[in-house]
Amino acid sequence: MTIDLRRCTGCYGCVLACKAEHSTPAGIHFRRMLFEEVGEYPKAIRIHAPVQCNHCATPPCVPVCPTKATYKRADGLVLVDADVCIGCGYCMTACPYEHRHFVGDAIGHFGAGLTPHEAIGGEAGHDWESKRDTVVKCTFCQHRLDKARETHKTPGVDREVTPACVNTCPANAMEFGDLDDPGSAVGRLIRERNGFPLLPEAGTQPSIFYLPKE
Ligand code: SF4
Ligand code: SF4
Ligand code: SF4
Repeated sequence: MTIDLRRCTGCYGCVLACKAEHSTPAGIHFRRMLFEEVGEYPKAIRIHAPVQCNHCATPPCVPVCPTKATYKRADGLVLVDADVCIGCGYCMTACPYEHRHFVGDAIGHFGAGLTPHEAIGGEAGHDWESKRDTVVKCTFCQHRLDKARETHKTPGVDREVTPACVNTCPANAMEFGDLDDPGSAVGRLIRERNGFPLLPEAGTQPSIFYLPKE
């Protein structure tokens, strides 16, 4: 995935689209917005950067998991098997980006009962009741990517199989595709715009690249 900092307006559309798609519990956002002011008046600018799990190529959250609940799929997705996760939080400590979240008792936004949308876990179909006391994170909209495989559609091209945050952006600030394909839109943008990952010094090899504002 590429995120173009020149195009992103910080509107929070992607944050809300993710929230709606996954109906994440109160206080948990798979996608968040970071803000930073750079420079001094009158040339100060405000940079906004949406962040989420980077689905790292060498993810430190995987080897620390004592139950192998956190694993890396052949296609590069880093996922958590809630049936095996014991909620120990080792992975939360290992992630240098703080992109993992513990699901506590309070999963509804409006008290003990769940709204119909919360009960079905959004379009992604999460069973949040059964994910209490486990650790969760951005799935790269796994349900959509799996549908792409079944229907022979292309994520990043066919909207219904593209991650919800990418789809919803009114500024078209994001592209989604195969980083290993030099001919893909993401590969071209990373080359032409000098795309960079966050915290490269952590050595995790993120799959998300930011395209600089300047
Ligand atoms: Fe793991 Fe964090 Fe990388 Fe996501 S961003 S794969 S949780 S180390
Ligand atoms: Fe593994 Fe769950 Fe512990 Fe994370 S909290 S290290 S996924 S068992
Ligand atoms: Fe949320 Fe899906 Fe975007 Fe991840 S890829 S931040 S789960 S909408």
